[in-house]
Amino acid sequence: MRVAWESDGGVWHLAFRLDAEDSITGLCSDGQALKLATNSMRVELPRAPREMHPDLLALAAWTVVAPWTRRRIVFDRPVSPEFADAIETGWGIQAGPVGGSPRSGSRLAISYSGGADSAAVAAILPDAPFVHFQRVPHPRVPNRWTHYRADVLAGLAEQTGRELTVVRSDLEFTLAEPRPGYPEHHAVAAGALLMAGELDLGALAFGYELGSRWLGGGRYLHRHTPDNLMWSQHGAWGQAFAAAGLHIVLPVGGVSEAVTMRLALGSPVREQVRWCLRGTDGPCGTCGKCLYKELIHAAVERRPLRTSITLDRGVARKWQQPPPYGGQEMIEYGCARVPGIEETVFAKAAAFLGATEASTAWLERCYPPAVEEVPEPWRKPIHDFMATEIGFMSEDEARRVETWGTT
Ligand SMILES: [Zn+2]
Repeated sequence: MRVAWESDGGVWHLAFRLDAEDSITGLCSDGQALKLATNSMRVELPRAPREMHPDLLALAAWTVVAPWTRRRIVFDRPVSPEFADAIETGWGIQAGPVGGSPRSGSRLAISYSGGADSAAVAAILPDAPFVHFQRVPHPRVPNRWTHYRADVLAGLAEQTGRELTVVRSDLEFTLAEPRPGYPEHHAVAAGALLMAGELDLGALAFGYELGSRWLGGGRYLHRHTPDNLMWSQHGAWGQAFAAAGLHIVLPVGGVSEAVTMRLALGSPVREQVRWCLRGTDGPCGTCGKCLYKELIHAAVERRPLRTSITLDRGVARKWQQPPPYGGQEMIEYGCARVPGIEETVFAKAAAFLGATEASTAWLERCYPPAVEEVPEPWRKPIHDFMATEIGFMSEDEARRVETWGTT
């Protein structure tokens, strides 16, 4: 794989070329098979940065091309030996050319999507600036996803009043299959990486919560994942970001979506929280994401489910099947707490799971190792927030995390 960046003011264009051993089908770090659509993309920054460290450009490119790279990657300018080592150690991919020294930065920014999890991060870190990724169309790929309202989400991020950098990119259209999206989940950070020098960023906080970090995530694994390749500090991506001087921080990595929902609903940005990508004046209320989040929302507010989704809808189908489910811990939590669940599309799932308030109480507290793995300069405010506002899991509760998927 060979990558080259060209800049035109604040617009950065990436072009990449596959080597003979590379293939247009590859795997995301989460195991999803991906097919390449096109070999170019751009990132539009709000202004031309004064400085641009080569490791930041290299890592931004790597978040896009990693799935299709088999043996080596050649960047268009030398990367630090530390960064090249991180790629070789993490992926077994030879990286170069090598030269120069690594960078560092001091501030933390939040990769803010506008959903409940990133709103919870915003509540924990009230002074941190936001960087928001906005999808824009690609000049060479038809946009068949016009219902995806990235403009609405960017507008909501503006309305929060927080210091905000919006970066626009068409990088999701490098993916032909399964659909446009981030080639690696970390590609959402491409704009933050290119702005990291300008903003003096040393860390980027993501809204990945307990399920994504420690329980194997939604559609993927369903087991305890201390060595999570994507989100652990010592994993391949954690080490690559650290080498580029932009540490991954997961402020809500130790708490469930019940906690992030509660924090989001009680936060100053609650009016701007939006987890649905389809609605304009509000969440669409008809997609699978809306149904899932409504279950959590209703559980947190201890009220009946408010939805027009009926059993005959496709998005209700998986809840008629036996587990395991993606995000199963939250299905258990919701089924145990929503009044009248047996009258809803979750009735069968609730019967399969047999969860109770007692059996899901561990999902209301923080898993201590998640805070311990936050890099030291940024750990204390997160620790103190968890200690005073949420509380830490007991050893028995922590064991629920560590035996997840095995009992
Ligand atoms: Zn929706």
